[in-house]
Amino acid sequence: MPEAVILAAIADELLLRTVSWFLKEHGYDVLEASDSAGIFEYLDSTVPDLLLLDVTADTMPDPGALERIKADVPWRDMPVLLLATLPPDDNTIRLLSLGATDFIGKPFRVRELLARIQVQLRIHQMLVEARTELRTAEEELHRARSQAESQKKLVGILNEVSGDFTPDEIYHLVVRRAARALNITHCSLILGQADDEQALVSSAFENPALRNLEIKLVRYPEIRAALERGGPVLIADIDADPMFQGVRSEWASEGMDPGIRSVLAIPFQLDRIQSGVFLLRTLKNEPPLTPEHAEFADAIIRTATGAIRKAKTLEITKADKMRLEELASTDSLTSLLNRRALMERLEAELDRARRYEHGLVLLMIDLDHFKSINDGHGHPFGDLVLQDLARLLEHEVRSVDIVARYGGEEFVVVLPEQGKEGALVFAERVRTHVEGHSISTGGGNGNGKISLTVSIGLSEFPLNGIQTPGELIARADEALYRAKAAGRNHVSL
Ligand code: GH3
Ligand code: MG
Ligand code: MG
Repeated sequence: MPEAVILAAIADELLLRTVSWFLKEHGYDVLEASDSAGIFEYLDSTVPDLLLLDVTADTMPDPGALERIKADVPWRDMPVLLLATLPPDDNTIRLLSLGATDFIGKPFRVRELLARIQVQLRIHQMLVEARTELRTAEEELHRARSQAESQKKLVGILNEVSGDFTPDEIYHLVVRRAARALNITHCSLILGQADDEQALVSSAFENPALRNLEIKLVRYPEIRAALERGGPVLIADIDADPMFQGVRSEWASEGMDPGIRSVLAIPFQLDRIQSGVFLLRTLKNEPPLTPEHAEFADAIIRTATGAIRKAKTLEITKADKMRLEELASTDSLTSLLNRRALMERLEAELDRARRYEHGLVLLMIDLDHFKSINDGHGHPFGDLVLQDLARLLEHEVRSVDIVARYGGEEFVVVLPEQGKEGALVFAERVRTHVEGHSISTGGGNGNGKISLTVSIGLSEFPLNGIQTPGELIARADEALYRAKAAGRNHVSL
């Protein structure tokens, strides 16, 4: 093994020179030492491949020298070949037990010494290779472990974002979890398009208050580049990157330094129109972002966009459903509750009244001689009158009361937690308001104002026999009949 470095430590000057000469002749690099101190001079500056140590002189090595050599980390694995007397004396045996690898008896033959040296160097080489392999294996294990760790974190994030969250909640969750998993302080989600002047920060880990903040894309070349490219942009050092040249000089002219070292911008597409960028940044005192960060962040944002799309669809569906429910429960002419919705609400109110043992009154309100209004002024005008009465009733009631169009020109008002006396006062107030209220017919003849009256029938819960909404309505209807019979513009119980 030529080029190997051998430190020959031999006290006898002639022997040292001789050994040194023939080792060099055989292609070795030779360092020379004539005592222990000479050996230690090399300790910090070099690591020989083998130490040839003459132990026949009394001074070589001094007690404790081998321990010191074996305690020094880079020298620890170095083979030590002893030049000893034959048979080996106590000192040689002690040194072998302290870690010397082999010995050769004096006087020795040159070929034998060379052979022993070669064997030791070969064994040493194998040891070095084994150590390197072990280190590589350890590194790989460590990498695999931390990869598994980040995979676990990723799965955690993905599980969380596939839950039942709104898009806003998901934005927030993604930046928070990604920042934690990657151990970075600056992580945000920005919505925007390549040709936009502005973009919108929808969530930022570094500042949770930064929601829906507008930013100028001209100040964020990495975001614009990612949106244009449709692929990730990773810049390890923005001070050295030409993409940031313009921004850097702007910062300089403004005397500011955002302290950013590296940036990673990963574009994503939410739907045909909405796109954005997942933006990760590290500061000057933090390590730069790497392709591993990019890979991890990309996996997060791809899953997150799936969850956001799902959440968006869900939001639209929910809004549609609410609109449909609203349509199904309201009367299209007056926007009051329709009969179906009234019956549902009434059922619930009766339950509550029973449970909390309080009263409830229902009013059936019917326009008097409404047919003649239709006949005299037309059906569309009749519709306006119905809408007008609806607004008047809504205006009269408390927030807990229910106003519904029962059908045609009949309206129902339900007054929960109300007794007969209070309800009569209310009914009387409605009757007089309608009586005193006139509606313009909008006709061209100038005198087009008409007055209306209503008749009102009341029924009360609890009252003997009344259990269901139907029964309550039937009783009110009977009372209404009596009010009509009494000459209309009248309130009856
Ligand atoms: P009474 O004093 O006995 O209640 O007489 P009335 O004319 O109000 O009662 P009647 O039941 O005879 O007539 C009710 C009228 O209400 C007949 C119908 O044309 C009218 N009507 C019902 N629904 C609507 C509507 O949605 N729009 C309009 N414009 N008229 C309606
Ligand atoms: Mg009627
Ligand atoms: Mg009527």
